[in-house]
Amino acid sequence: MQTHNLGYPRIGKQRELKKACESYWSGKIDQSELLAVAQQIKEQNWQTQQAAGIDLIPINDFSLYDHVLDMSLLVGAIPERYEPLAQQSVLDLYFAMARGYQKEGLDLKAMEMTKWFDTNYHYIVPEFTKKQTFQLFGNKVFEEFAQAQQLRLNAKPVLIGPVSYLLLGKEKEENFNKLDLIDRLLPVYIQILQQLEAAGATWVQMDEPYLGMDLTDRERQTFLEVYSEIRKQLPRLQLILASYFECFHDNLTTALHLPVEVLHLDLVRCPQQLDQVLTHQDLGSQILSLGVVDGRNVWKNDFQKSLQMIQKAVDKVGSQRVWIAPSCSLLHSPYDLELEKNLQPEIKQWLAFAKQKLVEVVTLARLASGESSPELEQSLQENIQAHQNRSTSPLIHNPKVKERLSSIEEKDFWRHSPFKVRQQLQKARFKLPLFPTTTIGSFPQTTQVRQLRAKLKSGKITQAEYEAEIEKAILEAIRWQEEIGIDVLVHGEFERNDMVEYFGELLEGFAITENGWVQSYGSRCVKPPIIYGDVVRSRDLSVRWISFAQKHTQKLMKGMLTGPVTILQWSFVRDDQPRRDTAFQIALAIRDEVLALEQADIKIIQIDEPAIREGLPLRKKDWAAYLEWAIKAFRLAASGVKDETQIHTHMCYSEFNDIIEHIAAMDADVITIETSRSEMELLEAFVNFKYPNEIGPGVYDIHSPRVPSVSEIKHLLNKAIEVLPVENIWVNPDCGLKTRRWEETKISLQNMVQAARELRQRVLVES
Ligand code: GLN
Ligand code: ZN
Repeated sequence: MQTHNLGYPRIGKQRELKKACESYWSGKIDQSELLAVAQQIKEQNWQTQQAAGIDLIPINDFSLYDHVLDMSLLVGAIPERYEPLAQQSVLDLYFAMARGYQKEGLDLKAMEMTKWFDTNYHYIVPEFTKKQTFQLFGNKVFEEFAQAQQLRLNAKPVLIGPVSYLLLGKEKEENFNKLDLIDRLLPVYIQILQQLEAAGATWVQMDEPYLGMDLTDRERQTFLEVYSEIRKQLPRLQLILASYFECFHDNLTTALHLPVEVLHLDLVRCPQQLDQVLTHQDLGSQILSLGVVDGRNVWKNDFQKSLQMIQKAVDKVGSQRVWIAPSCSLLHSPYDLELEKNLQPEIKQWLAFAKQKLVEVVTLARLASGESSPELEQSLQENIQAHQNRSTSPLIHNPKVKERLSSIEEKDFWRHSPFKVRQQLQKARFKLPLFPTTTIGSFPQTTQVRQLRAKLKSGKITQAEYEAEIEKAILEAIRWQEEIGIDVLVHGEFERNDMVEYFGELLEGFAITENGWVQSYGSRCVKPPIIYGDVVRSRDLSVRWISFAQKHTQKLMKGMLTGPVTILQWSFVRDDQPRRDTAFQIALAIRDEVLALEQADIKIIQIDEPAIREGLPLRKKDWAAYLEWAIKAFRLAASGVKDETQIHTHMCYSEFNDIIEHIAAMDADVITIETSRSEMELLEAFVNFKYPNEIGPGVYDIHSPRVPSVSEIKHLLNKAIEVLPVENIWVNPDCGLKTRRWEETKISLQNMVQAARELRQRVLVES
């Protein structure tokens, strides 16, 4: 039984590529040094896959920044604004497209970036114009294929398929549909495939994840036409069509009609797909690649379950027509579990990272082929045992949590009184001016602050010394906010490495890895905590810091927490219970913290939910079910407090139009949102919907070091005043300030406070 892999992480086991790229960008190393690091990672990845026994190894899955950007370069879809860089090296052009270019009097904006389906990976969005042309440009895929051949690798080039490539892009002009470009794009793809075939490639993997998405009839038709043309032009090249992250649903017939040799199925996301395919009347003679090993999560594969599925397929189509694979590219998995030295052994035995997943794929294929050896038998037994252990381990299963979860009542999701009543009580209690000013939570995380945490971890300073330093930072931040004249203060989040990991470290049921990095975009990686068990709040999460801060100011100090959906969304989540149940467990823990803050006399508490929108399922039909529990999870966390305690929430990077009623249903007293980059356009949804509660539309973009002027901020605020009731408006930046420097932060916030003051004056005079 053949095995293959769809893609491998490329950031390097120790994030070598991250470091090399960043050194190259800052001019510390040159191109050849960067490329040498890249080459090393690539070869190491190939070698790891070969050593694991994978038959067909992906190439061109490696990327210096992003594989969609690689594709844009390969087909010459380079936006016109980069023309002035034509004389530069291809590498610098490539990085300019990814990151923008501000040098030699040029100021070229980067291409846009957006989430890769429902993952936390972000890709560079191809830009298309009506007159868009394509031509073979880069040669990365050919070079990599040649290198792989030299190493005698059984290599399979991976390309994003032409239809998905277009659908991933964005029209930069009106009056045309990106799909219209297929006639110009397809010849370039055919040329690429011909060159690969001429170079000796026998297999090519075409990634068409859009086959799992909601498609129009025309889009489905385009798939059929494109692949029949490719088939016509390349009758002998063997194609693997890979779709993942969703079921084919209504695209299944289309997928089965595509003239390819292998159809890959993501059986982790969509196990029911196996039966649907096997019993489908249009199933032809294609090989089925069974994606049974989860490429998106960290759990050890359940061999017994997978073997059952594989057997079912073998019974129906014969073992010659069955391949074994991970469900999707392993890009979304951390590198290697063996690098983890601090995980509890009991937990570690439940896990598999990318390197271990390769071995799982190979072991499954051997077991399914009926091979037998003591070593195989042992792998199987170990696997069975690990799963038995996991299903009953007291580390995971806490009867008290399960009981509390099952005794939640309807009233737990509701504040005592409706917003209008709460608003009056809060206004009377806080006596804030019109247009109260606040910030989103974090202040600049200086190297000094970050080093503090590192020093504590490595034992160079004691816990007491660490806490004293954090307290000092908080006190400075307080003085500083008081000086500027901010109305509702924050403590600055200096004690937090990351808004999710911080809580993961303190809550029971979470494990933190040392090296479980996953690429987020370009050189940026995230290290999601692993939620392995029932969640319990067994200690204080934030009260210690927030109440310290409140004690040192007469002003209102806002408590700062991360919401249950965001914690869920940015973690590796257990797969042995519905996501909803895990979200509710986290919500109960946060609820307890909210009440502890209230008990400690904190009167305003913010529960951040920046990830609510990105949790939306890929298919629209599944949205309602998700929103139902996601919104409830937030309300469960927020609703325990008294009417006069004010709950804030914060969201960023969001289109709100299609989910505004659900955002309103969260019933936070105040919501702060990102709006400045869109010149308040994002506010429209709130206006059209007549959003009832208070709202702080972000008045300046914190993603850039640029300092906004008073008049600019006033201009944006005036837009808000035109459409929202004045008594509902708050004034704040777009998001937290942790990536900024103090210098610019200070002037920006001064300008923000000044703008609010001037507007107050004006409105008071007018009324
Ligand atoms: N309170 C967090 C901060 O200020 C919010 C971050 C976010 O929205 N991503 O950093
Ligand atoms: Zn934000």
